[in-house]
Amino acid sequence: MMKIDRTGQKFGKLTVIADSGNAQLLCRCDCGVEELLPRGITKPSYKGRKMCSYCKGGVCEVCGKRIKYNSGQIPATCSDACAKARNNEREKLRYQAVKNTEAYKNTRSSYLSKLRERLNSDPVLYAAFRERAKSYLKKSRSKPEQIEKAKFIAKARWQRIKNDDALYETSVLYARKQYDNYSDDDYKRIFNRERSHTRARKSRSCLE
Ligand SMILES: [Zn+2]
Ligand SMILES: [Zn+2]
Repeated sequence: MMKIDRTGQKFGKLTVIADSGNAQLLCRCDCGVEELLPRGITKPSYKGRKMCSYCKGGVCEVCGKRIKYNSGQIPATCSDACAKARNNEREKLRYQAVKNTEAYKNTRSSYLSKLRERLNSDPVLYAAFRERAKSYLKKSRSKPEQIEKAKFIAKARWQRIKNDDALYETSVLYARKQYDNYSDDDYKRIFNRERSHTRARKSRSCLE
């Protein structure tokens, strides 16, 4: 059976740009992406997507990159790294939501007092606990992938703050308060340089 040449025809966001008579048509989406789609899109009964896989996939909730849709449910994020960052963020939000509830406070304070009791009554355990905490901190600070991960999460977070005026405003006020609260010694320890008072004043007046 002769197939109709579909070149130039439009289906949803897709325009057929090449029809070689095969089962697939080369289409260009309104967004500019070119992809092969089944000839079935020409049928009125076609229920599948009439847009490219990126328009279908939407954007990553974490980094904002377009997601290439494959099949099934549309994922919220573009990669394993973004999925992890999103989970961490959600876990943080969950913690923020429960941390001031009585139930959480009670559970936590009873856990901490039990732990403190045990550590105080057992010097060997106390020493081991200190050692472990110290080595954990040292280890996580020396692992390049941990540092990369922290940078990645910070970057994604900053991206989100930057795109939200209210959030940005809050974070600027918060940061300013933090800087003001640092003693000169703290400042030197954190930023590895002396605090420049003139500069601090200058940047503050810019924000006001
Ligand atoms: Zn598209
Ligand atoms: Zn992403």
